[in-house]
Amino acid sequence: MASIGIAGAGFSGASIARELAEAGHVCHVFDTRDHVGGNCHTERHETGVLVHRYGPHIFHTNNERVWEYINRFGDMVPYNHKVKTTVEGTVFSLPVNLHTINQVFGTSMSPVEAHRFITGTQVISLDHEPENFEEQALTMVGHRLYKLFFEGYTRKQWGVSPTSLPASILRRLPLRFNYEDSYFNHPHQAIPAEGYTPIVEAILDHEAIHVTLGTALEPALASEYDHVVWSGPLDAYFGYDLGRLGYRTLDFEEVVTHGDFQGTPVMNYGDEDIPYTRITEHKHFAPGETHDQTVYFREFSREHQPGDIPYYPVRLVGDQQLLEQYEARAAASSGVTFVGRLGTYRYLDMDVTIAEALEAADAIKALL
Ligand code: UDP
Repeated sequence: MASIGIAGAGFSGASIARELAEAGHVCHVFDTRDHVGGNCHTERHETGVLVHRYGPHIFHTNNERVWEYINRFGDMVPYNHKVKTTVEGTVFSLPVNLHTINQVFGTSMSPVEAHRFITGTQVISLDHEPENFEEQALTMVGHRLYKLFFEGYTRKQWGVSPTSLPASILRRLPLRFNYEDSYFNHPHQAIPAEGYTPIVEAILDHEAIHVTLGTALEPALASEYDHVVWSGPLDAYFGYDLGRLGYRTLDFEEVVTHGDFQGTPVMNYGDEDIPYTRITEHKHFAPGETHDQTVYFREFSREHQPGDIPYYPVRLVGDQQLLEQYEARAAASSGVTFVGRLGTYRYLDMDVTIAEALEAADAIKALL
């Protein structure tokens, strides 16, 4: 029986704690915040609406092990996520699909015609693989759609030119030549009926798991445990001694009103002169619930400063060296496993986070 110290009570820390506790080990989970669930935390707002406190989280996966795992701990309600975007005073359908293309170009093209039109007249071809976000967009959708839907939003979201960002960010989004407007392609899409926090609480609900909130696991105390799992920021584990990795943080402006504010859960704003990236109206995540009031949040992205909550690892194309140095140190550190979006400094979705946590737990079990 080993004693495990775990930094962070989000999906990574909780799933690993559960796996190790079930294997007979004792897990001490610490989180600096006063709740579990990390940035997936949900709570009932005074309006009665269930809100995703740190921005919209939709669970989607094609990983059967992960889907089974999350269903073990809570009631997942099927939910098909759709997103609209307002640009230049008009509302368009996202992700870019046949409706979007026909709206933008004022046409009524068929799938074949639209495909021929975009690939034949819009996209540019490169003599190399797209090396950044902008190149990826120009080869995928062309100049007009890029300018409308991606350039402004991306500058607001990441605070830099899309030419400095990895192409992989855009590859998160589908491009479709039909009228399918689901935001994700995965076969399983759902939102927990009572939110993510009760699910994470259920994962942590085991007699061999001890959770301490409002308290950090200090890296200096790592030697008190047989093994440490670190889901906090990678650079924080090393005291930022090589310098700070870049993160984006978010600010939310809350508005409470009556009825239906925007008729959809997420409305993006592509224009660069509108300071927020999107507005999320949370009651639309639970169409089965009825609330007279509504609450929505305008979301603003800015550079993370010490003390802010980190949300997104920035991973600038030209900023790999510092990351590689920290990664090398992480790989050389024994007795500690780095997991999750912050611990591995990657833009991971919830399902990938859980999948990797389960794999990490298997690897730790084999070590102990
Ligand atoms: N994006 C964009 N315009 C949009 C939506 C997304 O340019 O209307 C880009 C932007 O760079 C964003 C990325 O695509 O960071 C991924 O979008 P997603 O909706 O997956 O972001 P998340 O919900 O994770 O913040």
